[in-house]
Amino acid sequence: MSEIYRNFIAGEWATSNNAIDNINPSDISDVIGQYAQASAAQLQETIEVAKQAQKEWQATSLEKRQTVLNKIGEEMMARSAELGELLAREEGKPRAEGVGEVYRAGQFFTYYAAEVLRQIGENADSVRDGVEVDIRREPMGLVGVISPWNFPTATASWKIAPALAYGNAVIWKPANLTPASAWALTEIISRQDIPKGLFSLVMGSGAEIGQNLIEHPEINAISFTGSYQVGKTIARASAENFTKFQLELGSKNALLVMDDADLDIAIPAAAGGAFGGTGQKCTASSRLIVHESIHDQFVERMLDATKAFKVGHALADGTQLGPVASEAQLNANLDYMKLAAEEGCEIAYGGERLSLEHDGFYMSPALLLGGNNQMRVNREEMFAPATCVIKVGSYEEGLATVNDTDYGLTAGIITQSLAKATHFRRHAETGCVMVNLPTAGTDYHVPFGGRKNSSYGSREQGKYAEEFYTQVKTSYIFSGSPF
Ligand code: NAD
Repeated sequence: MSEIYRNFIAGEWATSNNAIDNINPSDISDVIGQYAQASAAQLQETIEVAKQAQKEWQATSLEKRQTVLNKIGEEMMARSAELGELLAREEGKPRAEGVGEVYRAGQFFTYYAAEVLRQIGENADSVRDGVEVDIRREPMGLVGVISPWNFPTATASWKIAPALAYGNAVIWKPANLTPASAWALTEIISRQDIPKGLFSLVMGSGAEIGQNLIEHPEINAISFTGSYQVGKTIARASAENFTKFQLELGSKNALLVMDDADLDIAIPAAAGGAFGGTGQKCTASSRLIVHESIHDQFVERMLDATKAFKVGHALADGTQLGPVASEAQLNANLDYMKLAAEEGCEIAYGGERLSLEHDGFYMSPALLLGGNNQMRVNREEMFAPATCVIKVGSYEEGLATVNDTDYGLTAGIITQSLAKATHFRRHAETGCVMVNLPTAGTDYHVPFGGRKNSSYGSREQGKYAEEFYTQVKTSYIFSGSPF
């Protein structure tokens, strides 16, 4: 019997009646642990305590808040090998990607530790004589954080760190596929010198505890990263209570490879962007839009790059592509491969379930050829290690194809032309644009987010996060005359 990991409720580790098994997708005989499922009563209990804790935290000195955030970040960075291995074990990404994610998560905390001291307001003279105006930001209050399984530590950290930095209490509902990473981060936060109940962990399913959280009238703001469908549910529930919300959702990112592309840049960008993280990245390149004059050369080299990916156990040396995170996701991916063939794509390589030494959710990376932008495989987010090449005859057609999608998170262009790169940066209808770089891979000190169905609300990360986690107060001060 493996250990049961508990929720963190009202500042205490709390038992529950229900728990789920956390299974390693690289080896389904490996049960990482059992994770308690929070109840609606526990959510209520923790919210009651969080309200008081938030007031205390808001009144805590800036330097103390900064120290807390630094300590969390530094511990995560120092333990990135250990916690990255745990993340890779439960999510399936190769160890190096897991370690990198935990390290990056630590950087979010140290970045926002510095931002704690940069909370500077504005002042103005009133239009009335003798009156001054003071404009400052205050915390939102109780922030609900709902995170996905694909970047379980990074997405959560880029929400939790600014939420705490700007003086809020946090109630975190992580994805049920990746509770171990959530528990580990919570354990670090639980040891900090913070008001009891300031930070809560409520593990459980989206339909139950997630739904309770988004419908709770005392939650002041919800930051969500996940699918478009669940994002809509959150938008509706938030509208009902006038809860502030921000959504980072799915995508259908395209990489445009122009006729003058340097293939030594294009191939690693396309292959890494398509298959990194087993294709389970919101920023993955799932459409490769390639100019006809370079198409055949590109395809030949892309095929070699795709075949070269070593699929294996996330923790095995040399693994470049881990398993798919869950059986449900694997089955959905395989269904998309069937659909691709039905829609007329040639599956030039991959797209099949693999049987390896350990019983896991393995799939070979898939390169689809002969696609067009109307096919469902080029319109719906697959979240699979699969990408489709779409041939175009000109830059204009390429740009139009990139933009012909319901989503708008990232887009990339590979070209040696400054003019085309500049035009593309200005006309791609996405929140992030990459020039001669993969569509995946962003920094932590600058804003991140998308357009259309990929995002809603203010930007995450960097200084821009302040907009979501704070609210503005305008004060008018009449001081009278000293004479
Ligand atoms: P998901 O929408 O299924 O789940 C996300 C989270 O929402 C989970 O914690 C889940 O339990 C919870 N949830 C589900 N139903 C809920 C409900 N009714 N009420 C409240 N919470 C609920 O997404 P996922 O499968 O975990 O993650 C994959 C998706 O996330 C993909 O679409 C991907 O593109 C997206 N994603 C987006 C970004 C981004 O920044 N744009 C980053 C990473 C992942």
